[in-house]
Amino acid sequence: MTAQHVNAAQPIVTRFAPSPTGHLHVGGARTAMLCWAFAQNMKRQGFDGRFMIRIEDTDQARSSDESAKGILDDLAWLGITWDDGPTLTTPAGATIGGDSRNVGPYFQARRIDIYNAYLEHLVRCGRAYPAFETSDQLNADRKAAEAKKQTYKYPRPSDVQLGIFNEQRWARAKSGEPHVIRFVMPPTGITVTDLVLGEVKFAAGEVDDFVIRKQDGFPTYHFAVVIDDELMGVTHVMRAQEHLINTPKHVALQGALTRLKNDRDATSGSNGQPFRVPQYAHMPLIFNIDGTKMSKRDKAKAARKALKDLLTKDKTLTADAIASDLKLDAKLLADFIAAENDSLDIAQAVAAKFNIPLPEIEVWDYRKSGYLPHAITNFLSLLGWSPGLKDEQGKDIEKFDLSFLSQHFSIDRLGKTAAKFDRVKLLSFNADAIAALADDAFDRELTNWANQWEPTFAQRLKHIDGQRRAALMRACKPRCKTLRDAVKVMDFALTRDDQVAFDPAAVAKANLFAGATGHTSVTKFRAMLTELPAAGTFEPTSIDAWIKSYAETNQLKMGDVAQPIRVALTGTTVSPPLGDVVSVLGISGSLTRLDRCLSTCRTLAPASA
Ligand code: GLU
Repeated sequence: MTAQHVNAAQPIVTRFAPSPTGHLHVGGARTAMLCWAFAQNMKRQGFDGRFMIRIEDTDQARSSDESAKGILDDLAWLGITWDDGPTLTTPAGATIGGDSRNVGPYFQARRIDIYNAYLEHLVRCGRAYPAFETSDQLNADRKAAEAKKQTYKYPRPSDVQLGIFNEQRWARAKSGEPHVIRFVMPPTGITVTDLVLGEVKFAAGEVDDFVIRKQDGFPTYHFAVVIDDELMGVTHVMRAQEHLINTPKHVALQGALTRLKNDRDATSGSNGQPFRVPQYAHMPLIFNIDGTKMSKRDKAKAARKALKDLLTKDKTLTADAIASDLKLDAKLLADFIAAENDSLDIAQAVAAKFNIPLPEIEVWDYRKSGYLPHAITNFLSLLGWSPGLKDEQGKDIEKFDLSFLSQHFSIDRLGKTAAKFDRVKLLSFNADAIAALADDAFDRELTNWANQWEPTFAQRLKHIDGQRRAALMRACKPRCKTLRDAVKVMDFALTRDDQVAFDPAAVAKANLFAGATGHTSVTKFRAMLTELPAAGTFEPTSIDAWIKSYAETNQLKMGDVAQPIRVALTGTTVSPPLGDVVSVLGISGSLTRLDRCLSTCRTLAPASA
């Protein structure tokens, strides 16, 4: 960041301004993290860098406090903390946020009187006016323009003039006539100066007289964002490029607004101080690997495709029967299948019913799937930004933590072109992050995760402790790319020794029937185990070595010996190395399993029938 971009005398404030209409999208997390990194980097340089969160909840129908809380919680989980904004107490008991600069409240719905004061002031200065067209009228006009292949622009009424207070319209509005407030767009072009994209010019007439207060009395996003960025001292607006189209509106509003002497009272008059234009930095969009835009709709797409495949394959299934089974409105489900709606609720209900994996889009999805926060932040840091540093081998440095990011972040290194969200790379980052954990740290992460997302698994895991637990973590960690993988990988150890179910197909494949080679190997293995000292005092590798030598002596392939033993110990054909399995189960647990398998196989064996 070069010196001309900051003024050392004032706090350098960047903000993340989510609309609380759902979970935190990974793109939003990327924005928040880079804003945070910028503020942190300013602090490191000795400036008063601040990262602020503002909740943009002016769309009352779609916003909820629950969603706002979820977004804050996801940010804190990722390790992104904020200096100013709503307060949150973390599970560890720390408090994040607060209003030390005294510029809150940070929920826009609690700032309506502030917006109204500035709106009235604009109206009185002839820079805004009430408009009374109904939405039916506007829709008809829009359709007519579209039919003529024209882009619809709201035509300024002939009685409205820039800089002249329209008292008649104001009186109609005041008397309660339904209306919106529109901004009088100045007749000049607008140039947005962007720290990433350079100068972006918007021609005069490109933007019409847009709405700044809706009929429900709430400001539009454009108006609230401009008022708040000014009043909250925001100096750097860093957001995704999809907002670039909005920025000329914001710059035009900044040009028309001056500070009031009292922010909540239009009659206090202006104090003459014009609104500042913050520094803008529009960050590259994030696309799916196939080049489509990454959005929450991808979940609906995945569920729809799987559901259509199911309906084609299984002729006994009908959409109506599924709707009634899932207590969904039949018409809504039919529309969903026909891609007339992308309801997330339907996508999730259908996915849960038919076990359809949905793509992870939100931070919450990744938490549920068992990703580690630092793997996610590391991966997201590289979407549209890179440190541009090489390691000792001359390779680009790609693996780093949030502290490294804040040390090296600069807006200058943000890219211009869309970034691709490579899920395979994220998974490999996560696998590496899990592999890098010490066994006890892996245990802690897994236990916390399981308590939240898989309580039944957590409950089963509790029964394993001491050396067996340490052995379980050591054996399974390398086999988990996500924490969720542990549910399957550890299953063998969590089943009671006297309840392991032996899959008959695996039994047959492993030649476990009485008298077959597998059966003999298990019998010999059992005899060897009885001679071993107690679990924890033997070397797991000695067991693997025994298997190798037994195979050699009897001229068998390793797999022909190991697989039957594996099936006998775990009930399945996939598990960690057998030495580790025995360490986890203990000698006596292992013997119980082997004996059960041998006797089960006797009854299963065709020869004994
Ligand atoms: N509430 C807007 C959003 O969620 C914020 C945009 C901005 O940063 O100005 O996209």
